Amino acid sequence: MKRILITGALGQIGTELTLKLREIYRGDFVIATDIRKNDSEAAQNGPFEILDVTSLNSIIEIAKKYKVDTIIHLAALLSAKAEASPLNAWNLNMGGLLNALETAREMNAQFFTPSSIGAFGPTTPKTLTPQDTVMRPATMYGVNKVAGELLCDYYHRKYAVDTRGLRFPGLISYIAPPGGGTTDYAVEIFYEAINSRNYTCYIKEGTYMDMMYMPDALNALIDLMEADSSRLTHRNSFNVTAMSFAPEQLALEIRKHIPDFEITYKVDPIRQMIADSWPNSIDASAAEAEWGFKIEYDLAKMTVDMIQKLLRKGNKKG
Ligand code: NAD
Repeated sequence: MKRILITGALGQIGTELTLKLREIYRGDFVIATDIRKNDSEAAQNGPFEILDVTSLNSIIEIAKKYKVDTIIHLAALLSAKAEASPLNAWNLNMGGLLNALETAREMNAQFFTPSSIGAFGPTTPKTLTPQDTVMRPATMYGVNKVAGELLCDYYHRKYAVDTRGLRFPGLISYIAPPGGGTTDYAVEIFYEAINSRNYTCYIKEGTYMDMMYMPDALNALIDLMEADSSRLTHRNSFNVTAMSFAPEQLALEIRKHIPDFEITYKVDPIRQMIADSWPNSIDASAAEAEWGFKIEYDLAKMTVDMIQKLLRKGNKKG
């Protein structure tokens, strides 16, 4: 990775990934793009371009302008928003991906896009979900993610594009807010625990989902992109995870630091349906074996860090 183009760079992942890549690689060679601009560091402290990924010409133009050799494609509509607006989700998640892959082919660029635990479905084995297993998702987001994984594999096989991906679980972070996924509660709960000592959770007790703290997710992405391609049996996409918990377990962990914190429940049927169709826990052994995937943060360590960082930044969203 030398000259890196990031799409959807002002979202939850891109806001932090852009800064991290600018630290590791040459800052002026990490080009952040998004359909909107804001005052985040990602948009302000290095090259930034407005880019709508549904326009193939626009991606190719910017990729050529900066002579990129790597594309990290993050622009997408996440699970809950996709379920509320399936046609828009198809157009952005599939159309944008196809355009980004075409650009990678044209530029002979290495390519990364995240898949998700949302690629699994109700008939997938729920516990320690294997790397290679039944994938019949019940949501538009899941359909997009499975089709996207297959499309990335196709571009590798057919055009030798160096495509790589991770099936991210819910990502927990304190810089940019999450963008409308099913696991967003695991971020919101920290803000509310600090602000009001009370959080009303839209996912019901006993619902287990996999999660990961953002620093581990960014390291995994970079480690996979830097991995020797001859070691990769899989490409699109690898199971990765750091922890699996239900809302009441996260609340218990937060209560160790904020003893008067209370959680109550008001279940959102759509997001609960999505959560129920996802795995309870994930097997990441293929990622460990093929490129040395490892994590630093478990539930306890992540909780301490989230609370400290939010208190330090004054607990403001965004
Ligand atoms: P996000 O919703 O926070 O950010 C998406 C970004 O895409 C936004 O900044 C938005 O402005 C931009 N965008 C929307 N339409 C666009 C368009 N037409 N052209 C260009 N940009 C556009 O999403 P995120 O959480 O950063 O997720 C990035 C990727 O990671 C997605 O593919 C998502 O499915 C995947 N993922 C995320 C999580 C998670 O927990 N955050 C988990 C699994 C997978």
